[in-house]
Amino acid sequence: MENRFEGQYDVLIAGMGVAGLFCTLHLPADCRVLLLSKDGADKSDSFLAQGGICMLRSPEDYACYFEDTVRAGHGENDPAAVELMIRSSPAVIAELVGFGVDFARDEKGNFRRTREGGHSVPRILFHGDETGRAIASRLLAAVRQLPNAEIAEYCELLDIVAADGVCRGGIVRDGRTGKVFAVSARRTLLASGGVGGLYENSTNYRHLTGDGVAVALKNGVQTEHLDYVQIHPTTFYSEKHGRRFLISESVRGEGAVLLGADGRRFCNELLPRDVVTAAIRAQMAKEGSKFVRLDMRPVGKKTLREHFPTICAHCLAEGYDVTKTPVPVVPAQHYFMGGVKVDLWGRTSMRGLYAAGETACNGVHGRNRLASNSLLESLVWAERAAQAMASDGTEAGDGSFPAVDLSAYADYEGLKEGYAAAVRAAMQKQKQEQGEREAKS
Ligand SMILES: Cc1cc2nc3c(=O)[nH]c(=O)nc-3n(C[C@H](O)[C@H](O)[C@H](O)COP(=O)(O)OP(=O)(O)OC[C@H]3O[C@@H](n4cnc5c(N)ncnc54)[C@H](O)[C@@H]3O)c2cc1C
Repeated sequence: MENRFEGQYDVLIAGMGVAGLFCTLHLPADCRVLLLSKDGADKSDSFLAQGGICMLRSPEDYACYFEDTVRAGHGENDPAAVELMIRSSPAVIAELVGFGVDFARDEKGNFRRTREGGHSVPRILFHGDETGRAIASRLLAAVRQLPNAEIAEYCELLDIVAADGVCRGGIVRDGRTGKVFAVSARRTLLASGGVGGLYENSTNYRHLTGDGVAVALKNGVQTEHLDYVQIHPTTFYSEKHGRRFLISESVRGEGAVLLGADGRRFCNELLPRDVVTAAIRAQMAKEGSKFVRLDMRPVGKKTLREHFPTICAHCLAEGYDVTKTPVPVVPAQHYFMGGVKVDLWGRTSMRGLYAAGETACNGVHGRNRLASNSLLESLVWAERAAQAMASDGTEAGDGSFPAVDLSAYADYEGLKEGYAAAVRAAMQKQKQEQGEREAKS
């Protein structure tokens, strides 16, 4: 069978969210790059990000931003990783502006900043309530201009291929034809996003099923904190199946309040996500209800319309005018703090294999991510992984691609079921081990 992906690539990238795109943009121009997206190029969680992206306000804000991140993460964050992310933020934002990202600004042209739970001060830049789309669409447009980058939509990494302990590329399935190909690459980046597709209720795209983690587990690549999963307190309550619509935390940052069935507030809405989620669940259990209410009227009509047009439109389509009435909200799976273990350069435990974005665990988020730190963290590590890929030493052995039996990948459904089961089992195991460690201490 003819191989659609003939010859050797310098870099194979599984995932076209901000992590995969930003990495591509930082690779040397003479690198031959293949980018895969399991669905369409614009169907990534990066396009869904509403609230915004954090940026260090000033040198004086450093200690406070660090403290907020570590407090939200229950002190389990890697201090070096947190420092790296925070100190890199002004340069990353300047780069995004250079790519044409149009963050909201005041009359003087300064960035406007909003606030979300866990932040002591407003330090989140935004573009309406479509910050992710504003960033990812610009990066995608820039990648499409690169002569050295080949984009393969609806193409999925099924596995990596290693020889002499070094990753030599991967196995890729074209979802439109069902054909499976071997792809030879000197470096491979796992940037396949989170695990929401494994949950019944999640804000994530359904096709994000922790594939990077599954591939890592299958090939003995180290993973970490697979049990650290963030639940977002406020998604629109619906009886319908499918992805849950997020109601950004920045709505609460701008004054929205949570109400019980009795119309009274029951918690501080700006505490970290896990604390607010626990308060909502306790309230629902107390009331025997399926949701609580989010009252956005305190935000004011002008701010609601200007800052949150997508949220207003979604709620209206569901029959709720947020300027007049509270909307039903319920917690749902949202973000994955754990993942494929990487160092400060995105290197995994296997040579030639790197990871960035939500698939990776670099220690920034600890046990619970601080709101709007993930786009930033994804971008910082994507850039560093590109630098490492360009400068790391050559492969062990003769560097050739080993013979692979592609018929082993013929049963796609069976393979994917096995992957999902393996990820769930590993999450459960790590949760149990964590529980045992905590019980001992
Ligand atoms: C509704 C919502 C709102 C959010 N709001 C914010 C916010 O305001 N601020 C913030 O910082 N973060 C926010 N986040 C989180 C943030 O969007 C993500 O953590 C971040 O975008 C992850 O980027 P990524 O590149 O790692 O993955 P993604 O953007 O999820 O991209 C994953 C890519 O991998 C591809 N893929 C998956 N599996 C495979 C495979 N096997 N082979 C090939 N490709 C594969 C997908 O097709 C996709 O292209 C939000 C998330 C959601 C869901």
